[in-house]
Amino acid sequence: MQQATSQDFIALEKQYGAFNYKPVPVVLAKGQGVYVYDVEGKEYIDCLSAYSAVNQGHCHPRLVKTMQEQAAQLTLTSRAFYNNQLGPFSEYMCQLFGFDRMLPMNSGVEACETAVKLARKWAYLTKGIEQDKARVLFATGNFWGRSIAAISSSSDPDSYSDFGPFVPGFDVIPYNDLQALEEKLKFDEQICAFMVEPIQGEAGVIVPSEGYMAKAKALCEKYNVLLIADEVQTGIGRTGKLLACDWDGIKPDILVLGKALSGGMMPVSAVLTSDEVMLNIKPGQHGSTFGGSPLACAVAMEALRVIVDEKLAENAESMGQLFRELLATLPSHRVKAVRGKGLLNAIDVAPYANEKTAWDVCLKLKEKGLLAKQTHNHTIRFAPPLVITKSQVEQAFERINAAFDEMEAELN
Ligand code: PLP
Repeated sequence: MQQATSQDFIALEKQYGAFNYKPVPVVLAKGQGVYVYDVEGKEYIDCLSAYSAVNQGHCHPRLVKTMQEQAAQLTLTSRAFYNNQLGPFSEYMCQLFGFDRMLPMNSGVEACETAVKLARKWAYLTKGIEQDKARVLFATGNFWGRSIAAISSSSDPDSYSDFGPFVPGFDVIPYNDLQALEEKLKFDEQICAFMVEPIQGEAGVIVPSEGYMAKAKALCEKYNVLLIADEVQTGIGRTGKLLACDWDGIKPDILVLGKALSGGMMPVSAVLTSDEVMLNIKPGQHGSTFGGSPLACAVAMEALRVIVDEKLAENAESMGQLFRELLATLPSHRVKAVRGKGLLNAIDVAPYANEKTAWDVCLKLKEKGLLAKQTHNHTIRFAPPLVITKSQVEQAFERINAAFDEMEAELN
């Protein structure tokens, strides 16, 4: 029988799937470190890392081993019973990130929603806000997933259109605008929390002014409001520190982690906070069948140890600097802006004569052996696994440069 090709697999998805994504037309079958391979065996440098979930590199041998070993022992108990992995994992997380307590979930959106629920409980039971009046603040451009709650705070019509009615009690203020934050906090005593990404990933790698998070934290303290840092994308070494909040030297009241927490092996997310906030939740008030499973805990603990042992945050910082330096050499008629921190970077592509967009550049990058994805029309994110080496950064840049060269040649 003839072997199935990339086209065959794409055709199957087109026939039986939902069109909720527009993938780059490549069908991947294998991954190792920073490289992924399609079903025909072609090699690509992965510059997306599954939206920053594969920080440790594809199929990291330590994670594969832990996954296999734990899978052969015990995978799921539910929280109806204790298991011998959740306690040690909780202790490790709390000590590593400096919090009193951790609540495990699965996806990023679940953990963010957990944070919002914790904030609302705290609003009523601790802060003393009148029942059902608590409000949570978000920033324009925020992205925390696709649930009804998440899109209720979204400023992106693609995310929320035709999905209403929405969750009440959410307000949106401009990102990177401390004055707007203070105005809100000063005049609305019903605000219990401000949930914010230290760098906005899906919005196009938007890096706020220096000190934004530190000043936001100070304002939240002043007005007795919880600062929730959504580090689902920026956390776990991605920006060159273990947490992006570390750049500002602050500890949020609630920290949300996901994605790279398991090194891409399975969905694992977590919320970390203080006794004061976490202990408001009582048995039966929140949970998830899979959250805190022994498999998730074992894999996530090893995934964090890999980050620490291999100094991947430090590597992200130095390789990120090199990557941005190389990207900055691209001529301005091709690239209008380069920005980012650590290995969370993006370029804004200059529109080509026939209005070719970032999507067209991504298709050309694929031809040249590099996978990246556009956000919005003109922005391409470059976020390779944090295990990337100097020569691999240089190789990635050569492929990016070659893609631009070829696009330009085709236009002339
Ligand atoms: N928060 C941030 C900052 C994200 O970037 C994302 C996903 O991209 C999420 C939350 C949602 O995570 P998930 O897709 O695992 O639900």
